[in-house]
Order: sequence, then structure tokens, then C-alpha cells
Amino acid sequence: MLAQKVGVNIFGKLSKNLYSGYLNSDSLGAKKVYVLSESPVNEFFRGIVVAVATFGEDDERLIVADENAVYYEPDLRIEFSYLKNTTLTSIRCLYEKSCGGVIFYNGKSNTRILLVKNNNGRYWSFPKGHIEIGETEKETAIREIKEETSLDVEIKDGFREISEYSPFGKIRKHVVFFLAQAFTNNVKIQAEEIAEYIWVDLQQARKLCTYNNDLRIINKAETAIKLIK
Ligand code: ATP
Repeated sequence: MLAQKVGVNIFGKLSKNLYSGYLNSDSLGAKKVYVLSESPVNEFFRGIVVAVATFGEDDERLIVADENAVYYEPDLRIEFSYLKNTTLTSIRCLYEKSCGGVIFYNGKSNTRILLVKNNNGRYWSFPKGHIEIGETEKETAIREIKEETSLDVEIKDGFREISEYSPFGKIRKHVVFFLAQAFTNNVKIQAEEIAEYIWVDLQQARKLCTYNNDLRIINKAETAIKLIK
């Protein structure tokens, strides 16, 4: 359902940008949906499904928005927090944003970076996680690093690398990585999320990481770390 183009017959305005309506679709039926739009909407709206949300116990609704508009989960939660008499209980979004870090530690003889394998994917990459309401990108990175590894890190200025990909072919994921210095290599992983961790030099990191965007970020981090030392 996510990313599907749909038409909506509008029947009400709920807040500045939020409307309710019925799907205008033979195949999907006349489902109730919410429409989010920055510009005013009249009787009909054409857009794409940016989220599938459940309100209350089992009132599942599609959230439809303009094809070019990007709404991440915190944006949608804020929009729906103004609704009276209904509570958003769960949401799956087309656009996801996460932040994390290439964490480095200067040991006595060399510099190492931290790779983690998470329980779902089982591939080596960097700690990261979803942005939450009210957080800056750096705050998300610091919180996620702390949660997943227990490390308190210092984010270095001038390094902000983007990785974009489509998990499961449909989700449009945007990840921001910072360069983060750790002052201990004593990691305690969050077992619910992380399966394994390893401190490696940059050469080993290039061998273990499989995604091209991660390899590009390792190369950028190598240059940045050399300038810091
Ligand atoms: P988060 O840490 O942000 O909560 P997550 O643990 O749900 O995210 P994702 O990064 O969204 O994991 O990974 C979901 C899927 O996307 C993975 O199973 C993998 O197939 C794919 N994937 C992960 N990283 C990359 C990448 N750098 N490039 C391309 N595809 C990736």
C-alpha cells in the first residue's frame, strides 16, 4: 500500500493541513483516509500513500500526501496529536529517517572504528536509529549510540554524510551519519537490537562492510580522522 498513487474524495477539514476523505478506488474500496497537504484542498486530492496508521484499537487508515512531500514519523505523530477523540497507536511510514555515527577510538597503537551487526539484518554497519519527536539529528545520533553501545561520544564538527536506500524495495530511507569519538572502547550492546560488535581498523572495516554507501562513508571518515589526529 505504501507509495501507491491514489485519489481521495475529501469530506472534511480537520486542522490547517489535515483533511479526511474516502479513497476513490475500485480495487481498494471506499476506505476512510487522511490527507495531509500544505496547500488548500477542495473536493478531490491526488497523492501517494505516505503511511499506514492505526488509530485506537483497530481503525486502520491510509495517510495520503502530495507526491513530492516528505513526512517522517515524528512529523506525522505531531500532525495527529492535534486530533480530538482519537489516538495514534501505530504507524508504518514510506519515508524513514535515522541518524547514527562512525565511532572511532584512538587506542595506544592505532585507531579503530566500531561496527555493529543488528539482529534483523546481520550485516556489519554503524550504530544508528530512528529520529524521534523534537530531536535534532545530532541528538538522535548521540541517543542511539548510547542505547545500542552504551558509549558516550563526542560528535566532530564538519562531518555529516548521507546514506539513502530502499529497505524491502519500498521504504525511502534517509540516514545521516556523523563522526563520533569515543573515549573508551568498553562497549555494552543492547541485546534486543544488536547481535554483535567489533572494533576494527579502517582496512578491516572496508572488508567487513558490504553496502557501497557504507564503504564511501568509511573512506570519508578515514580522511576526517587523519585531520583530527
Ligand atoms: P534503524 O537502525 O534505522 O532502526 P533498521 O535496523 O530497521 O534501521 P535498516 O537500515 O532500515 O535497518 O535496514 C533495513 C534493510 O535495508 C536491511 O535489511 C538491508 O536489506 C537494507 N539496507 C541496510 N543498510 C543498507 C545500505 N547501506 N544500503 C542499502 N541497503 C541497506
